[in-house]
Amino acid sequence: MMEKRKDIYYKKAKKQGYSSRAAYKLIDIDRKFPILFSGMRVLEIGSSPGGWTDVLMERNPANLVCVDLSAGKGSDFPINIRGDITRDETWNRIREVMGDGFDLFLSDAMAHTSGQHDRDHGASVNICNAIMEHCNGFLLPGGTVVLKQFQGDMTGPFVEKYKKMFRKAYITKPPSSRSESSEIYIIFSRFIPPVE
Ligand code: SAM
Repeated sequence: MMEKRKDIYYKKAKKQGYSSRAAYKLIDIDRKFPILFSGMRVLEIGSSPGGWTDVLMERNPANLVCVDLSAGKGSDFPINIRGDITRDETWNRIREVMGDGFDLFLSDAMAHTSGQHDRDHGASVNICNAIMEHCNGFLLPGGTVVLKQFQGDMTGPFVEKYKKMFRKAYITKPPSSRSESSEIYIIFSRFIPPVE
């Protein structure tokens, strides 16, 4: 088990000072679909232990709000919110610190996997739905959403449901994502807010 964890990305992350090997998934995604830019305002969900946060900080964000069930590093910047993204109270706290809104939602959130595919897929879709239901009011026009999801029967209908709110939708599996994992990343780009 330990040997498996110490793969090439694990070693690379240690050497380059990233908090986790997951950092390379965001780097891979950004290489293929440029999503990160200086001055961006980002909501990062499922941020702990902080690999993606490290990558985001290298790009000089104007705002970075990190949400996780686990406690963050306790700094003023990025802003850490300890909470469950499926709960309204967490979104109320995000609203307090978001300023005008976000250019980018990023989610690498996943509840503890049970090993039962259908259950893990369901839990993952549940988190993704909670995030997508909050685009309106939090994501700025033209904004982007990147979501981890454990792929399954509901993935196709999920993408179909939400892609109408965006100009483009993609599914990607970064090279640094373990091939034996059913995780994929869904990218919705260029948000079109509903007309009031
Ligand atoms: N992207 C992170 C990195 O680069 O280090 C790794 C994220 S880790 C794979 C998944 C995280 O999602 C865990 O820290 C977990 O606590 C968080 N998480 C799971 N369910 C959540 C929820 N409902 N709300 C907020 N965070 C959640």
